[in-house]
Amino acid sequence: MRKITITDLLRPHFKSLIGGILAVIGAGIATLLEPWPLKVVVDNVLKSEPVRNGWLNKLITAVAGTDKLAILKLAAISFIVIACVDAICTYVQKYITTSVGQWVMHDLRRAVYAHIQKLSLAYHDQAQTGDLLSRVTSDIDAVQSFIVSGLLDALINCLMLVGMIGVMLYLNWRFTLIALSVAPALGIIVFVYTRRIKKASREVRKKESQIVSVMQEVLSSIRVVKAFAREDYEQHRLEEQSLEGIEIALRARSLKAKLAPLVGVIVAVGTALVLLIGGEMALAGTLSPGALIVFIFYIGKLYKPMQELSKMTDAYSKAAVGYERIREVLEMEREVKDVARARKLTRVKGEIEFDKVTFSYDSEAPVLKDVSFKIEPGQLVALVGPSGAGKTTIISLIPRFYDPSSGLVKIDGSDIRRLQQKSLRRHIAFVLQETLLFHAPIWNNIAYGKPSANRAEILRAAELANANEFIRKLPDGYDTIVGERGVTLSGGQRQRIAIARAIICDTPILILDEPSSGLDAASEKLVFEALDRLMQGKTTVVIAHRLSTIRRADCIFVVKDGEIVESGKHDELLRAQGLYSELHELQLDQSDGIGNPIVNS
Ligand code: ADP
Repeated sequence: MRKITITDLLRPHFKSLIGGILAVIGAGIATLLEPWPLKVVVDNVLKSEPVRNGWLNKLITAVAGTDKLAILKLAAISFIVIACVDAICTYVQKYITTSVGQWVMHDLRRAVYAHIQKLSLAYHDQAQTGDLLSRVTSDIDAVQSFIVSGLLDALINCLMLVGMIGVMLYLNWRFTLIALSVAPALGIIVFVYTRRIKKASREVRKKESQIVSVMQEVLSSIRVVKAFAREDYEQHRLEEQSLEGIEIALRARSLKAKLAPLVGVIVAVGTALVLLIGGEMALAGTLSPGALIVFIFYIGKLYKPMQELSKMTDAYSKAAVGYERIREVLEMEREVKDVARARKLTRVKGEIEFDKVTFSYDSEAPVLKDVSFKIEPGQLVALVGPSGAGKTTIISLIPRFYDPSSGLVKIDGSDIRRLQQKSLRRHIAFVLQETLLFHAPIWNNIAYGKPSANRAEILRAAELANANEFIRKLPDGYDTIVGERGVTLSGGQRQRIAIARAIICDTPILILDEPSSGLDAASEKLVFEALDRLMQGKTTVVIAHRLSTIRRADCIFVVKDGEIVESGKHDELLRAQGLYSELHELQLDQSDGIGNPIVNS
């Protein structure tokens, strides 16, 4: 994948930046000209014998003649004009940098978010949400604030440096060399510190995102934290990270804090040198008093850009580190992606086939070993087996959340790797054990998989899912906001919304991680009824926990240690006296009499 450079980011804003650069040049020239009216007043007005030679003096004579009052007026007016040019250029420059900064931030945010959403589940399984969040927020922010406050400021400072040194060399090159004698020392110090500060800043950012990760993890599992009364432990964990954060931040801060005063002292030595030698030269008459004023003004301003540039290293290193972290995400390859000429899946009968599928999450021990089976369109297939056997992994391979290490997964005879992922997933609906609801009205939550659905369709889906009745009783009916910080729903109600979601998608393939586990008998009955309606005429793969579902299955696959060890109908498997009949015996022992025991987790 091609590397995304900072130039790529700035390219779309090329025209604005050109405007900004022109403004910077204007402001630079204005600053350079600032002491000149004063020089003219000192050398051409206040002196008893005004100088008449030199191009500047000739220009003054041409414009204002030799009348001292006229020259004074000219100097005063130029002073105001210079100030106005400076003001306008500075405004334009600030406006342009702010707007470019905002647009780059927008572009980056869009690109990173789009990429994060496209990254495979294998990436998200191991990525820390807090870390990703801090990349999308703080890191992008750092880049933005550098563009706003650093990019063109750096240019203006460089221009000022070059301009002022040029003018000083023109006025008196020997004196300029004396004034600049401290520059090498300054350069070395700035260079050395910049490198150290950049390294420290990187550590600070890393720590900050670790802290966000810890908080995010706890906030998203606050129920578990409370249930196990682990608040103190989690508090301690955060404090530990936060203390480490302080230590690292202080180290970085102390480096930064040392730099500015060091520069300040060196600058003072340089200024003292100029005052001393320049004063002597003016007394001896080798330098005009006006030129000395220009020199002193420039020297005062000359070190400022250096100091500014050295301060800017902080903003720059933050931005560089932020940008590096953003690029890491952007350059992360997707493991599961569409092949070059991926086919769009249109009509699907619903045949699912696994052909010698072997799979592992971490390319170590295989989780699935040589799994082969074929499910005919419209069949109901139940996966049973002990926890950790690989059932969830099998159903994750059907929508191609992961790619098998070897072997093929086929839908209607086509290798799913040759199909466009989106078109594949459009033909598969899920009802899982945990149903996530979004912070949105029920209408939108039901229509999540088919945003184009009209109200009548949503209502019908809710009715078929046995959800209509309870939704109507909610404070705002279908307009009730659910999900995070919305109205809370019971497990059974959430599942019926999930079933309505699946009904509305009306896909030929259904995947159920049996959604009735953990429900009370009354809820369960409603959920089962809804599921029955949902499954009609569809190829359904269900991780089954309930005997009632298993009994009805056209085929049962018994999964153990990543292999399908037995398959067949309920009665056949019982007769075979294998693992299934063992599990069944176990179930009957725990049964509540209505077929609700647990085969597996
Ligand atoms: P089941 O659904 O039968 O309980 P799973 O398919 O969830 O089993 O898990 C099979 C094996 O794969 C287990 O050993 C589990 O630890 C491992 N596993 C599951 N998901 C992941 C994952 N995202 N990353 C790494 N290993 C995983």
